[in-house]
Amino acid sequence: MPSSDVDVVIVGGGAAGIAAARRLHHAKIRGLIVEARPRLGGRALTIIDGSGFALDLGCGWLHSADRNPWVEIATEQGASIDKGPPPWQRQGPAIGFPRPQQQEFYAALDQFHARLEKLAQGETDVPASAALEPGNRWNGLINALSTYISGAEWDRVSAQDFDRYADSSINWRVVEGLGTVVKRCGADLPAVRDCRVLAIDHRGKRLHIETTQGAIAADQVIVAIPTTLVAAEQIAFTPALAEKTEAAAGLPLGLDDKLFMSLDGADEFEKDVRVFGHTDRAATAAYHLRPFGRPLIEAYFGGPCAAALEAEGEGAFFDFAVSELVGVFGHDFARRVRPIRIHRWGLDPLALGSYSFALPGAVDDRAKLAAPVDNRLFFAGEACSTHDYSTAHGAWHTGVAAADQVIAARGDATVAPANR
Ligand SMILES: Cc1cc2nc3c(=O)[nH]c(=O)nc-3n(C[C@H](O)[C@H](O)[C@H](O)COP(=O)(O)OP(=O)(O)OC[C@H]3O[C@@H](n4cnc5c(N)ncnc54)[C@H](O)[C@@H]3O)c2cc1C
Repeated sequence: MPSSDVDVVIVGGGAAGIAAARRLHHAKIRGLIVEARPRLGGRALTIIDGSGFALDLGCGWLHSADRNPWVEIATEQGASIDKGPPPWQRQGPAIGFPRPQQQEFYAALDQFHARLEKLAQGETDVPASAALEPGNRWNGLINALSTYISGAEWDRVSAQDFDRYADSSINWRVVEGLGTVVKRCGADLPAVRDCRVLAIDHRGKRLHIETTQGAIAADQVIVAIPTTLVAAEQIAFTPALAEKTEAAAGLPLGLDDKLFMSLDGADEFEKDVRVFGHTDRAATAAYHLRPFGRPLIEAYFGGPCAAALEAEGEGAFFDFAVSELVGVFGHDFARRVRPIRIHRWGLDPLALGSYSFALPGAVDDRAKLAAPVDNRLFFAGEACSTHDYSTAHGAWHTGVAAADQVIAARGDATVAPANR
């Protein structure tokens, strides 16, 4: 343990924890990130494949890019931003999904969203599935989209919380990988890796933080770990924090996994287009062809479909993808694809899922989770964001907000406010 006595311990070195630590560092407050993994970044994770391509196994898109702090950070780092439109804003190939059907589907989707927006204005929160039109032939695919957006089908998703998400519809990417940017951003901050926080005792004057590498004393703690782990009480608080456990349980992590595959003869396709494996069901993957123009396919699996494949083993994702792609492009396609890498986020013990959604009725749990306790325990992480939840920029903002609360609680008037 490099330091057993600090001002502030930040539990979790993901995007939120890094943002908080950086803000405290600039404010000259002695913060220490305690991260259970051997690396910083959490659900931001870039790997380099055999061809030298940076592949984001976690977050990749700079959503709401026109107001996303990671854009400026990436630019400062000298990374390259790709501003081309994302596959879901381009017309997909007609093969397997003729244009008239695509038009019909997108019209049904627009109508669904309009009904959902209306439902969300109601007094009572309801499952977003209440906006599905009974018997509509596109309900399966509309549900598949929910598994990509929320990691769960609409029946589990709060209509009001979904409606609160703020999306500017500008989506960019980092050629070197968003995971690379997040990791680099934390590189110079005081941090101890491979060190799991087990317990936090907040009875005494100073906080007592029990870790796998020994104890640390601190004035304040920022807890920036996934809701799944808060709900499972993986950190034991003394006294217990029942309201946090309950709020976290209302904000589970949906499940989404990406499989990268190499693609022979990729030039046949336009770059950055999307095809669905099936258009008549929820249990289907979305295939992003030639991301950045590379000879690759990025397959996206969500919700119950991803959960079933995770349980079968890594190879099940590739087998499923091949069976769907052959259905769309014909038998010979199987010879053109090879698996590169998948990360099963649901089985990752330090994530247990991909990104948060709110259960019906749990729409206020984000604010409850984010609320400080006694001005000594602070909470951050994407799930604490009311409007930008489930994203890396939402995580960033919650980290900065928690650090600002710490600064205010310490009464240090010399610290200049930060815009990021
Ligand atoms: C497949 C996938 C695709 C995604 N796509 C996008 C996208 O395109 N755009 C986007 O903006 N977002 C995307 N996201 C979501 C984004 O990655 C997350 O919202 C964001 O990275 C969460 O950051 P965080 O700091 O809140 O949590 P995390 O990144 O999970 O960080 C929490 C950290 O806490 C650590 N930890 C846990 N328990 C302990 C403990 N007891 N002691 C110490 N450390 C602990 C963990 O190891 C982890 O490093 C995606 C996520 C996934 C999985």
